[in-house]
Amino acid sequence: MKRTLFIAAAALVLLAGCKDKKDMSNPFFSEWNTPYEIPDFSRIKTEHYMPAFREGMERQKAEIDAIVNNPEAPTFENTVLAYEYSGQLLREVGSVFFNLSECENSPEMEAIAEEVTPLLSAHEDDIALNAALFARIKAVYDQRESLGLNPEQMRLLTEQYKGFVRGGANVPASQQARFRQLNEQIASLTLQFAQNVLKATNAYSKELADGTKVTLDMPTWEPFMQTCPDRALREEVWHAFTDRCSGTCATEGSNRSSTEYDNTAIIDKLVNLRLERANILGFPTHADWVLDDCLAKTPANVYQCLMDIWGPALKVAKQERDIYQRMLSNDEPGAKLQPWDWRYYSEKYRVEKYAIDDAEVRPYFALDSVREGAFMVANRLYGLSFRERTDLPTYDKEARCFEVLQGDSTVGILYMDFHPRASKRSGAWMTEFRGQHRDLEGNNIMPIIQVVCNFTKPTADRPSLLNFDESETLFHEFGHALHGLLSNCTYPSLAGTNVPRDFVELPSQVMENWCRHPQVMKLYAHHYQTGAAIPDELIQKIAAAQTYGQGFMTVELLAASLLDMDYYTLTEPQHIDPLAFEEAAMNKIGLIPEIISRYRSPYFQHIFTTGYDAGYYSYTWTAILDADAFEAFAESGDLFNPELAAKFRHLLESGNTVEPMELYRAFRGKDPSPKALLKRKGMM
Ligand SMILES: [Zn+2]
Repeated sequence: MKRTLFIAAAALVLLAGCKDKKDMSNPFFSEWNTPYEIPDFSRIKTEHYMPAFREGMERQKAEIDAIVNNPEAPTFENTVLAYEYSGQLLREVGSVFFNLSECENSPEMEAIAEEVTPLLSAHEDDIALNAALFARIKAVYDQRESLGLNPEQMRLLTEQYKGFVRGGANVPASQQARFRQLNEQIASLTLQFAQNVLKATNAYSKELADGTKVTLDMPTWEPFMQTCPDRALREEVWHAFTDRCSGTCATEGSNRSSTEYDNTAIIDKLVNLRLERANILGFPTHADWVLDDCLAKTPANVYQCLMDIWGPALKVAKQERDIYQRMLSNDEPGAKLQPWDWRYYSEKYRVEKYAIDDAEVRPYFALDSVREGAFMVANRLYGLSFRERTDLPTYDKEARCFEVLQGDSTVGILYMDFHPRASKRSGAWMTEFRGQHRDLEGNNIMPIIQVVCNFTKPTADRPSLLNFDESETLFHEFGHALHGLLSNCTYPSLAGTNVPRDFVELPSQVMENWCRHPQVMKLYAHHYQTGAAIPDELIQKIAAAQTYGQGFMTVELLAASLLDMDYYTLTEPQHIDPLAFEEAAMNKIGLIPEIISRYRSPYFQHIFTTGYDAGYYSYTWTAILDADAFEAFAESGDLFNPELAAKFRHLLESGNTVEPMELYRAFRGKDPSPKALLKRKGMM
C-alpha cells in the first residue's frame, strides 16, 4: 500500500469535548482519562463499537436538525462552524474502529464493519443530500465577501460549499431523481466489475511440470513471467492474465478468466453514466469534474504532465527493448520479442548486471538504524525530537509509542507498529487516531498518529534487518506522519493530510529522497554488528539497481494513465468497445507492441472501481512534485538547508487551509518542473 494508502479513517478526527455519561460501561461515552487523552485501548471491547456508532449517528443527526431548524438567519457560526464540529462521537469511534480493524482484525471486527458500513454510507448520503442544510450553507456562501472572514474561515466555507455541490446538492429538482439513479447504477456496476476481476483471477490456475502452480495473483504471476524459460508456456500464462474479463480468449484451451467474467459492457455503461453525471453537475466531462477538486485542475494540465515524461520514457524503453531483443535472438534466432518475453529477459539482464545480494545490504539497514535515520532527518530539518514512551496506552504490545517534541513542548504522539501479525493486513500505511485542530474554544488539540508496516521480524540472535525497499517505505510513511504531526490548522476538515489526492503523497514521497541520498545514507546506514557506515560501492549498486528497468515501468504506467484520461475526457455519449478504444489510445501515443498498458481496460480496477478514475495520473504528478521539491535542497548544496526547511514546514503545517499549488509555489519559488524526475529515472 506504499504510496497509495489513504484510507478514509485518516480523515477522521476526534474532538475533546463533553460526552454524556449515560452508559459508563461503554468507554466511548465518557472522557478518556489518559495522558494526552489517548483512547484508552485497554477498556475498549468489540461490543462497545456498534452502540457507539449508533449513538454517534443519532447525535450528529440531532446536531444537523438543530442547524436546519435554527430560527435565526444562517451565519458562519451557526451553520458552517456548527456543521464542521458536528459528529464528534461518530468520528471518535470511527477512527478507533477503522484503524484497529486494519491492524487488530478479527471475525468480530469484520462482522461489525459489515454491519456498520451501509449504515454509515446512508448516514453520509442523508447529510450530503440534505436540502435544508445546503440551503443554509449556500446562504452564507452567497454573502461570503461581506462577512469579514479570515482566509482560513473563507477556505472552510468555500470547501464546505464545494463539497456539497460536488455531491449533487445543487442539482436542479427536475434532475435529482436521475442523479440518484446514476449514483446507484454506477455503484452497482463498479461492484460487478470488481467481482468479475476477482472471480476471473481466481478461476485460473495452471499446474506446472514440477508440481507447483501458477495463478493470476501478481505475487505468483510476475515471478513466473520473470523466470519461466519455456516461451510457449509464458505466452499462454501471459494471455490468461491479460485477457481477463475481456470476453475474448487469444489462446487455445479457452479459460474462463477471459470469457465468463466479461467486463467490456460494464465499461461501456460506466464511462457513459459517469459522463452523464458530470454533465448534470455542470462539467463537460467526468475528468473535468474529478480534477476540479485536485491540484491538476484540468485535463489539459494532466495530459501535459504525462506527455512531458512520455517521450523520454519511451526512448529509454526502446533501448531496453533492443537489449532484450538481442538476448532473445541469441536464444532463438529469428524470433521477435513479444510482451511475454519482456519480464523474462529484463529479469535475466538485471540479475547479470545489477543484482544485489540481499544478505550484503540488509545488515546496514537494521530497523532501529533506519528509524533513527528518519528521526534524524526530521530533527535536522524541523528540530523535532522523539522520546519513546512505554507508559502510555497502546492497542498492541508490539506497537511502539513516541512522544514528539519541539524543544520542551509536546507536538504529538506517534505509534509505530512495524511487524506482521495474523490480525494485521499487508502493506504499510499512516493514519490518525486524532487529527490536529483547534476546538471551538480555540484550544490546540494534539495529533495522535499511527504508522503501520509489515517488516521482517527480529530473531533471537538478529535484529529486524530491512531491505532497501522497506527502508524507503519507513521514510515514506514517516513523511505522512510528519504531515499529520506538524499540522497547525484550526478546522479539522482542513488539517493535516486532508489535502487533494494528487498532493497527499508529496510529503511522504519527498522523504524517500533523503532515505536514498548517499550523504544521508552514510549518516544512518551502519552495519548492525560492526557499526561501520555503508560502503560507497554498495550505495552505488543500490542506486544503479533503482534506475534499472525504468523505461518499461514508466511507459506502462503512463500508458495506463493516458488510457484513463482518454476514457474520461469523452464529451459525447457513445458506444464503447473497450478493446478497440484501448488499441486506438495506445496507437495514438506510439506505444511499442512489446509493452502494454500496466492494466488493460477489462481489469483496470483503479479507474473503474477503486476511485482512481481520471486520477491514475496522480502517481506521476506527485513523483514530479517530490523530485522537484527535493531538487531545491540538492541545488542549494545543503540537504538540510534551514531556509528551505522552514518553507517546506509551512507547506506541511498548512494542510488544506491554502490552495496547495500556492503552497508549493511559495516553497519552490516557481512551478514544478519534470526535469528532476527525469534525472532520477536516468532519462536525462
Ligand atoms: Zn503514501
